[in-house]
Amino acid sequence: MSLRFNALNKLTEKEAIPFESTGRITAVFGEYVFDLKKARQFLSDEAYKSLVASIKAGQKIQRNVANQIATGMRAWAESMGVTHFTHWFQPLTGTTAEKHDSFFTLKGDGTPIEEFEGDALIQQEPDASSFPSGGIRATFEARGYTAWDPSSPPFIVHIGPGKTLCIPTAFISYTGESLDYKAPLLKSIDALNKAAVDVCNYFDKNVSKVIATLGWEQEYFVIDEAMFNARPDLVMCGRTVFGHNSAKNQQLEDHYFGAIPERVYAFMRDFEEECYRLGIPLRTRHNEVAPQQFECAPIYEEMNLAVDHNSLLMDIMSRVSVRHKLRVLMHEKPFAGINGSGKHNNWSMATDTGVNLLAPGKTPKTNLMFLTFFVNTIKAVHDYAEILRASIASAQNDHRLGANEAPPAIISVFIGQYLSKVLGDVKERVSEKFDEQDESMLKIDIYKSIPELLLDNTDRNRTSPFAFTGNKFEFRAVGSSANCANPMTVLNTIVAQTLRQFKEDVDRLIDRGEKKEIAIMHVIREYIVASEKILFEGDGYSESWEKEAERRGLPNLKTTPAALDAMIADKAKILFESNGIYSHTELEARHEIELEKYIKKVQIESRIMGELATSHILPPSIRYQNLLAKNINGLKAVGLSEDAYSNQLQILDKISEHINKASDLVEKMIEARKACNAISDTRKRAIAYQEKVKDTFFDQIRYHVDKLELLVDDKEWYLPKYREMLFLR
Ligand code: ADP
Ligand code: MG
Repeated sequence: MSLRFNALNKLTEKEAIPFESTGRITAVFGEYVFDLKKARQFLSDEAYKSLVASIKAGQKIQRNVANQIATGMRAWAESMGVTHFTHWFQPLTGTTAEKHDSFFTLKGDGTPIEEFEGDALIQQEPDASSFPSGGIRATFEARGYTAWDPSSPPFIVHIGPGKTLCIPTAFISYTGESLDYKAPLLKSIDALNKAAVDVCNYFDKNVSKVIATLGWEQEYFVIDEAMFNARPDLVMCGRTVFGHNSAKNQQLEDHYFGAIPERVYAFMRDFEEECYRLGIPLRTRHNEVAPQQFECAPIYEEMNLAVDHNSLLMDIMSRVSVRHKLRVLMHEKPFAGINGSGKHNNWSMATDTGVNLLAPGKTPKTNLMFLTFFVNTIKAVHDYAEILRASIASAQNDHRLGANEAPPAIISVFIGQYLSKVLGDVKERVSEKFDEQDESMLKIDIYKSIPELLLDNTDRNRTSPFAFTGNKFEFRAVGSSANCANPMTVLNTIVAQTLRQFKEDVDRLIDRGEKKEIAIMHVIREYIVASEKILFEGDGYSESWEKEAERRGLPNLKTTPAALDAMIADKAKILFESNGIYSHTELEARHEIELEKYIKKVQIESRIMGELATSHILPPSIRYQNLLAKNINGLKAVGLSEDAYSNQLQILDKISEHINKASDLVEKMIEARKACNAISDTRKRAIAYQEKVKDTFFDQIRYHVDKLELLVDDKEWYLPKYREMLFLR
């Protein structure tokens, strides 16, 4: 029996795996996290103070203190049953990495002891050679090390009977280049902090720190494990390369409002509880538009922690799904013809005085501060749209962006009717020269009604890639499988850069003798005018927008290889270097890594397509072709006229055509791949893979295969069909 029928037969026997909740969330929340409360309990005063100073002010921890902290951490971990520790990091492969070491060791005289020293906490040397480095290591230095990030607390991962203490770290080469997602993210958070504090001080001298905040929303699909295993394309690429649409898919939108299926619900409860223990503040869960598609979202957090938590969540979900004989699909587009998955990144900035800088204020002064940060963000997105676009480019996300259910590849900003009017008013009423009218503008009550109006949810636009949603911007074009760090690093950096420029521009006017508020108002006006063309309130899915965007001169880069060019343009080099985020070498390396990832993904998909077509699609098709041929011959043999088998002939004709076309295209695709592999320049190879392999063959081959799926006897078909993966529970 084929895996497909095995899966179908077993499906009815599958019940929700019982899940015993320990009760209230607050009872377990953060149980597995070495937070400051536990640090207080397990550390000496000196060690505790040093840890806090390092978290709050980024101060370096002295070696002897590090030893004390490590000892305290081990004492806590051992009290929780932990035996091993690992430096946990996020290499550019896109997953998380760890290498476990035991606390256990032997002393010089052979006495077995448990120990964890400061050095082991602060720095480790994983074998870095198998992680992507984009050529950095070849050119510079063969080794890399992981360095403790005290701002994200250590946590315990509990797998089966084993518990491991995980220490969040950054991964850096010995020559100082970052090899992971965290190091540049931390730099960008710092750059934004400095630039934003300087601007905040125009309004409030008490602000001494600004943190970036992130609240992500994770979309995903869940399917039955046996179905998953019967689909080699899902196993190898995370998406189905073949599969005809089912008669019903998402047009009724009945899934969106429906109840969560029981097996999935048990899975959710289970992974949520693991998340709570790890301090991930999950808040919402619900069905999404597509069948078997869901979403979860936490309460927003300080960005570094939020990014770590999202990476951790994806690991946890994948692991826990196996326990429930399910598989979670994080891919941006697992199924053609129905919605893909994104990861909205809700982004804002908050001061150490407790102010959300993107929340409209109640007084003219706080409103001017809001307007400053609001307009600077828009200007940043306008000035660096193509770099922001590059930050979300991946082979997976190419299936989603611009596919009429996700934001288009054109970056634009949605701000809603009311704020559009506010910006219009500022533009109209602040004069280009300085006069009394500008002064009166400051007192104008146009800001007064912002808070109330923005809470109105009707003023939202789901088709925008970058939307203001009342007290934060929501970057919606991020892919579901992406590490948030990359787009957030870019967003922090471009806003930091714009704020620094803003301060220069305002200071120049103040130096000329302008009043501070007037100077600010003028620069705001100038920025509104300069970035107007990025604002778009209409339907981002429409064809007319594509035309309009082109007229406005907005970039519309539809493919990853093209979008990635922005990373190594001079503009990007100047931006990232002057903000201390990436050196030229690092940018070149990252560009190379992203291209390589793209090539590999397309290559694997192309191979799986060829293999499946040949070994899974053609055999049942040919058998059915034979059956029809025999049937026709038999009817002929008994002397019936062609009328009796004309329909069979027609079907046979179609089947034969699709078989021939599919098999011919597969051969040609293999040839095309060979030609691509011979191209040594990575960028050109990536473009060739996209144009000559993906664009030329994928849809065509799929067309013929999906036709065969409709024609061939259902009981002969090997691969689980869309309706089976998406509608059976
Ligand atoms: P939705 O966008 O689905 O309507 P919400 O507006 O409630 O949902 O929030 C979506 C996400 O935005 C949540 O994760 C929430 O914590 C986050 N969020 C809310 N305020 C902020 C903020 N100031 N900074 C970053 N994220 C925020
Ligand atoms: Mg949202």
